[in-house]
Amino acid sequence: MRALPATVLAVCGLIASACGGTGTGGAAAGQAAPATTAGQAPAAAQAKDAPPEAKPLDGKVVVIDPGHNGGNYRAPKEINRKVNVLTQMKACDTTGTSTNDGYSEAAFTWDVSKRLQKILKKRGATVKLTRTSNDGVGPCITERAAIGNKAGADAAISVHADGSAPANRGFHVIMPKKIKGPVDKVVADSSSLGMAVRDAFRKGTGLPYSTYIGRKALDYRSDLGGLNLSTVPKIFVEAGNMRNATEAAKFRDPKFRQKIAVALANGLQHYLQA
Ligand SMILES: [Zn+2]
Repeated sequence: MRALPATVLAVCGLIASACGGTGTGGAAAGQAAPATTAGQAPAAAQAKDAPPEAKPLDGKVVVIDPGHNGGNYRAPKEINRKVNVLTQMKACDTTGTSTNDGYSEAAFTWDVSKRLQKILKKRGATVKLTRTSNDGVGPCITERAAIGNKAGADAAISVHADGSAPANRGFHVIMPKKIKGPVDKVVADSSSLGMAVRDAFRKGTGLPYSTYIGRKALDYRSDLGGLNLSTVPKIFVEAGNMRNATEAAKFRDPKFRQKIAVALANGLQHYLQA
């Protein structure tokens, strides 16, 4: 007699989303709680006890690093301070680029990152950003990597846009290389993450592969502190060329920035669910 509800409960535990409705779940709940008045309020009790709806990124931790910071230009001494990125010494951070009419990379990466954070949270992920506003300074690239490591991120992404010659077009993804350092153990996973994001970005934004960097929008580097110092799977995305008029116009459009954020979320999700 008791074997049946136990089995039903076990199955429900495995497939939570299939068990929120009426039917056998109601019978099982009724039998599991004999103290309640039989026949009264089983529906309400079940609704209250029903597990929250499962989301695709439940349990996943993502760290988003919005490149640069809106206040960096005010603090050249702090920003130009040299830090050790294992393969060389580099500036703590940089101001980033901008469109010809003054829309800064820092503002762009901040907006896209906030949009991406919102989408990933809705899908169940725990999301942390490496900075809290776009009017501050830094943090250094070493700290940006450390935040991802400390969070134990399942995936980390640094959001950027490039400042290249005006005729150059397209986006690219940057992944770490082996450097006989701690990043070596996440080079393979970072490569998978990079390809998932490359595919989703192309599909979701319609932007072309970079015409001037990498092969099919994939580039591998050993000079970036944000990658060299990462012990979690991590990539950079260069969303396009802010000095190209066509791409600059797109980046200024909030609707297009939302498209970018959705594309990045889809790429991250493909990787995290693989
Ligand atoms: Zn940048």
